[in-house]
Amino acid sequence: MRVAILGLDGLEYELVKKFNMKNLMQKEYGITDLGDFDEIITPPIWASFLTGLPSEKHGIQEMYKWESNLLQKLSDTSVGMKWLKRITKSSKLKHLGFRKTYPLIRDKGVKTIFDYISRSFAINVPTYNRHLDRYLADLRRASLKNPRAFGERFEKCVYDKFFAEKNEFMKVFLEKDWTLLMGYTLMPDYLGHNYRGNLTKMWEAYAILDDFVGDVRSSAQDDVRILLISDHGMKLLGKTIYGDHSDYGFYSTSKVLGLNQPKITDFFDIILKELGCDAKA
Ligand SMILES: [Zn+2]
Repeated sequence: MRVAILGLDGLEYELVKKFNMKNLMQKEYGITDLGDFDEIITPPIWASFLTGLPSEKHGIQEMYKWESNLLQKLSDTSVGMKWLKRITKSSKLKHLGFRKTYPLIRDKGVKTIFDYISRSFAINVPTYNRHLDRYLADLRRASLKNPRAFGERFEKCVYDKFFAEKNEFMKVFLEKDWTLLMGYTLMPDYLGHNYRGNLTKMWEAYAILDDFVGDVRSSAQDDVRILLISDHGMKLLGKTIYGDHSDYGFYSTSKVLGLNQPKITDFFDIILKELGCDAKA
């Protein structure tokens, strides 16, 4: 058996159903239970998916970490954190290396699914090998403040990045000798934050994702199991068109597993078992 995983950040179960996205809804699909997380933020949830551990055990509980290890050590102390908060109010310091990035599991010394399976490929997976795209993150904030000036450029950049990610995934999927492969896109999260209430824009985004999954499904050989997974969904933020993280995620499997609102940590054992590996042995 082989397992292909697509991490779809912020994919919302209610929208998948509403838009009746046939490829996203595989043989089994539903919501995941995120009740173990105090705060619904992206990095800790992906780290839990990859390690099968709650955030207090894998150690990633924050959204960002300082790029410099020295600054990170300093910010782990309460005095250091206060001092850094005060001085980094000045954005000029960014150019002096006072920058943040995503936290990584390898800095915590914890094993992931990729460490158990030989011939593993992880493409742009958060907390494993994905780095913060500062340009896109800044552009998203700019487009929230001034949609007229930056909205179009933001959308184009999100889609350009998505299609590059899709191509990178398909190339490995079709050409490499893999047993476990995981690809990822931030597209549904970014567009969901800015346009959750604009159903035309959301439909377009979900249809593009559905096509991608359709390509994967139709070119998958019989020994390939496909898991689609989101860290969290996206709910409407009050009476605006903006979205914010919902407190459940989405999963969809090409094989019936009979799960009922699984926790995101449950997939660790499910994936390894499917690949004939016992992490506890
Ligand atoms: Zn997320």
